[in-house]
Amino acid sequence: MAFIKKGYEKRWPNGTVPFTLDPSIENDPNAKQQVELAIQHWQANTPIRFVPRTRQDDFVVFKPASGFCQSDVGVQGGEQAVRCDLSSGLFSSASIIHEIGHTVQLLHEQKRPDRDQFVIVDPSVLHDINYKILWHQRPLGAYDCTSVMHYPSLVGKIQKKPGGCKAIGGSVLTAEDAQAVRFLYPLSKVGRGRWGPGWTHLVPFDLNRTPHLFKYNRDTGRVTIDRIAADGSGTTQVGRGKWSKGWTSIVSFVLGGVPHLFEYNRDTGRVTIDRIAADGSGTTQVGRGNVGDGWSGVVGLIRDPPYFLIHRHDGRLRVYRLHPDAQGMDETGRTDSTSGWTTFAPLNLGGHLHVIRYKLEEGIVAISILNAL
Ligand SMILES: [Zn+2]
Repeated sequence: MAFIKKGYEKRWPNGTVPFTLDPSIENDPNAKQQVELAIQHWQANTPIRFVPRTRQDDFVVFKPASGFCQSDVGVQGGEQAVRCDLSSGLFSSASIIHEIGHTVQLLHEQKRPDRDQFVIVDPSVLHDINYKILWHQRPLGAYDCTSVMHYPSLVGKIQKKPGGCKAIGGSVLTAEDAQAVRFLYPLSKVGRGRWGPGWTHLVPFDLNRTPHLFKYNRDTGRVTIDRIAADGSGTTQVGRGKWSKGWTSIVSFVLGGVPHLFEYNRDTGRVTIDRIAADGSGTTQVGRGNVGDGWSGVVGLIRDPPYFLIHRHDGRLRVYRLHPDAQGMDETGRTDSTSGWTTFAPLNLGGHLHVIRYKLEEGIVAISILNAL
């Protein structure tokens, strides 16, 4: 898929690269267009974003060069250059696309330790900085012969190998290049805020087809309900309340089309069911029960009325179905085979409820149809 330089500190925060153009590129319409085309290509195919530099400390300057193109790998700190000869006609936006790959932490594909299975590298360049195998960086996925980070055979120092690459080099990001960039930059922040400290539980739910968030502070019992902006840019508090302290698990579910919350206290075994007000202003307790103490987690299973799967780190689990009036729960299945499943998740497959179970220590996974309905 790609070859990446190790080290998180080399990445651009939030995948955003502040940049400027050297005056000689700014004033050369062709050179400027090649840079802009390359930036557009990156923005169309990856989460990387380029913003004109204002006061950012770390930034890229696109600069001219004579007979070559070059970039450092990853964030250097302060000003760093992407140099490229865009005036001689030797290089174009494809070269800038490649250099930007270095800037965001990609290495030459032909420097991967497994490259000799796929290409023939001329002995004269075995120690050339652009071809020399790097043993301590990180190859991602399979070797990508047509990666934009792979040198083409045109250079004459590297050739296709029978049974290996059928073509080598490329002028645009491959799907695998883009996938590697998403690996390096898995999150793109779109919103921010300040909630104050102490929230121990964040439970998302939909209210009137709008995403909301229930927040709970286990130590104080404080509760708020926030509406989440449709573009994710922030949250607005719409409701609040005071619950008892000490709930360890909270899950949201829908009952009769209305969002509710299920709370469990691991120390006391208590369960309560709360209905969320239609305007999100607060919650009203509508049911209660006790499922015994010591359960490590609750998984809500998406049905109306819902099922709850309550599990313990030793593998024991119980399945409960909530009454349509929320006044009680029926146990519909149990297993005490203490087989060490530590982590559970619900799954809807072909209209049937399934459960994924995972053993943290051994790495084993099981996917099961949930029969106990
Ligand atoms: Zn390069």
